[in-house]
Amino acid sequence: MTTTAPTPMMAQYLTLKAEAGDCLLFYRMGDFFELFFDDAKIASAVLDIALTARGEHEGEKIPMCGVPIHAATAYLQRLIKAGHRVAIAEQVETPEEAKKRGGSKALVARAIVRVVTAGTLTEEALLDSRAANWCVAVGEAGGEVAVAAADVSTGRFELFETDAAALGATLARLSPAEVIAAEGSAVEATAYRPRGEFDSAKGEARLKALYGVATLDGFGQFDRASLAAAGGLVAYLDHTAKGALPFLRPPVRHAGGATMAIDAATRESLELTQTQAGARTGSLLDAVDRTVTGAGARLLAADLSAPLMEAEAIGARLDLVQRFHDEGSLRERVRAKLRALPDIGRALGRIVAGRGSPRDLGQLRDGLDAAWQLGESLSKLAAPPPLLTDLAPRLQGHGALIDLLQRALVPVPPIEAAQGGYIAEGFDPALDDLRATGAGGRRVIAALEAEYRTRTGISALKIRHNGVLGYHVEVPARGADKLMAEGSGFTHRQTLAGVVRFNAPELHEAALKVTQAGNHALAAEAAHLETLIEEAMARREPIAATADALARLDVSAALAERAIEGGWSRPALVDHACFEIEGGRHPVVEAALAKRAERFVANDCSLGEDSRLWLVTGPNMGGKSTFLRQNALIAVLAQAGSYVPATRARIGLVDRLFSRVGASDNLARGRSTFMVEMVETAAILAQATPRSFVILDEVGRGTSTYDGLAIAWAVVEAIHEVNRCRCLFATHYHELTRLAERCHALRLHHVRAREWKGDLVLLHELAPGPADRSYGLAVARLAGLPPATVARAKSVLAKLEAGRAKTGGLAAGLDDLPLFAAAAEHEAQAVDALREKLAGIDVDALSPREALDALYALKSIA
Ligand code: ADP
Repeated sequence: MTTTAPTPMMAQYLTLKAEAGDCLLFYRMGDFFELFFDDAKIASAVLDIALTARGEHEGEKIPMCGVPIHAATAYLQRLIKAGHRVAIAEQVETPEEAKKRGGSKALVARAIVRVVTAGTLTEEALLDSRAANWCVAVGEAGGEVAVAAADVSTGRFELFETDAAALGATLARLSPAEVIAAEGSAVEATAYRPRGEFDSAKGEARLKALYGVATLDGFGQFDRASLAAAGGLVAYLDHTAKGALPFLRPPVRHAGGATMAIDAATRESLELTQTQAGARTGSLLDAVDRTVTGAGARLLAADLSAPLMEAEAIGARLDLVQRFHDEGSLRERVRAKLRALPDIGRALGRIVAGRGSPRDLGQLRDGLDAAWQLGESLSKLAAPPPLLTDLAPRLQGHGALIDLLQRALVPVPPIEAAQGGYIAEGFDPALDDLRATGAGGRRVIAALEAEYRTRTGISALKIRHNGVLGYHVEVPARGADKLMAEGSGFTHRQTLAGVVRFNAPELHEAALKVTQAGNHALAAEAAHLETLIEEAMARREPIAATADALARLDVSAALAERAIEGGWSRPALVDHACFEIEGGRHPVVEAALAKRAERFVANDCSLGEDSRLWLVTGPNMGGKSTFLRQNALIAVLAQAGSYVPATRARIGLVDRLFSRVGASDNLARGRSTFMVEMVETAAILAQATPRSFVILDEVGRGTSTYDGLAIAWAVVEAIHEVNRCRCLFATHYHELTRLAERCHALRLHHVRAREWKGDLVLLHELAPGPADRSYGLAVARLAGLPPATVARAKSVLAKLEAGRAKTGGLAAGLDDLPLFAAAAEHEAQAVDALREKLAGIDVDALSPREALDALYALKSIA
């Protein structure tokens, strides 16, 4: 095998590929982006396009595939979806320039102009209009952890102070498209960047430079981890945009404790914004969302992901929802206006990222105009709720820009600027003149066609235009002789199969006029476009604020719409740890039942100081899980500022929400094991406070009966005695009901069922007291277990129950257990004694024999 030097093109490719690192490299060649080597193999597999070969490199054929430029967006989308990042290498000079620079064989210079990653998209076609697209960076400094998050499609930039334990919850809340961390960090990230980019001092400098300020004080106080995270993020965005930094508004800080803490497992279990299978359909968000704009849908998702902790802020949101709830005509009017609104936030994002089109400016114009009108009508409302007073002025104030865009742009500007035609008539007299000249020239050319036909007597003569010849005369081959003749005034240009093409002096002159006028007009339009974009950029902050205000209006009106639709009510939020729900419902299950024309049975829930913990028993399929979840969802909705599916709700603010489901419920997903269940339960016992709300569904189920009961028993005791949070605990361990005798704030409830003529009827209705029996066999029959098997199970059960009566059953002896506190005290004493003894041992002074004795002594204490 001989190793030959790579061709100049391959050498250029390899240099760019080295720069692109682990990104796929799109290498521009004419009308295609080409991929080579492993990139080509990956892309051809993901995109299902042909893998070919081109030339040789180090004696091997070079695998290659390509995508046409005009369809590149769709291919990019699929590669990004499949988890890849793509570096785009463009030709940065024309072939003519290359020749001028390096002679006739010179290679056109190429450079990576952009790295397309899932978290840094701005293109409408690549984004889900109803979901935010977060790119986040995790910063760590001196034991602190912070998350910086940017949605470059709208310029939102947020900072979260968190800690190692809560990092997962913070990330889960954002559900980011990309996570960046420093090289060597233990954080699970999609990309690792050089450590230096996460330096907090550099981060501070980067932010100051970005916003052109001498100090960050105006944005609030940042801890070092936040500066590290923000710096790392800005550096990454700079890297992917190759210097054309996208739109970033001043960062909004979220200190810990401002929102309800909901960890990743709880979010997943409650299916807040997506189901456990990853779909939006079937989630709480989907059941609640009646927004009419993409920005509204994004804000609602954010609200549900981060319920508030301040009664005042929640009340402000609820006041506005109530106004829309109570005034149907106002709601209708606002929603109709919003429905027709373009996504100005994202249009602005593209403009600032340098990818703005005339269409984007048109969207800004229409959106801002609609916002202005909305602001006008809202500012006339009597007794506006405070949030509205705050929002209305943000809808207006763009008068000059709207006026400029209305005068400057045609009604529906094109997405592509290259062909021109987006600047309106009458905006620029010079441009109008150029267009008139061009049009005049085209009229002259049309007239020439008629004249040439008469002159030559060829009725099939046509004047045509193409990229190579420009305007030319075309006649069928058989008539060509006449024009070929000397003195005909036509010059031969080209002979094709059936036609011959000519030029003529008058045509040439007219054509020159048309092209020149056209080029000048294009240049004039481009100059206007640049100015318009500058004008829009100069107002990016207030425009973004308008977009936010519109989104908030949409969310408020949509929540009102949803409340009316479902007969929901306004929750009262109070400061003590109560949870009183009358006629509560599960919005997702209710909607699913409604599709089958079945009715949802509403249930009350009432937790308070002396009844903090409800133990819910009853048959499988009886509605226990549904009841638990509906109450957790009601807490989320209420603190997000929504009405709730209940006839009345009074809720003490929840600081942390936890939801855990016993292992066997999740086994189908092949992930949750008993171990995971225990790890998650441990997290609750470690973190739940008296202001928290916890739902535990069949905890302890994933192991043997005795182990499971013992664990469930101890967890209930710990929650009752130590965490003292509000808790709903569903279990099929009937034995746990004995805990009611020793835990004063524990109340027993069950889901009702009845056997009727041998059939089991599940009433899905909650009633006080323990379930009288488990109905397991009846459920088994309901599920279609063969009658013979059910009959056999019945006789086994009779035997087991007879045995239980004799021995006292599964829970025999439990009543003799010391109380949880006493047990804990006993253990604590033993630990203290051990500590004391240990402290008294001088290890260095011990002989091996004495050390062994000391060990025995320690063991006797434990
Ligand atoms: P469990 O946790 O007791 O096994 P689930 O809560 O999973 O029971 O409920 C089983 C099914 O019963 C649900 O899928 C739903 O179709 C129905 N269901 C639950 N609660 C209600 C209710 N309150 N009203 C009507 N149907 C209900």
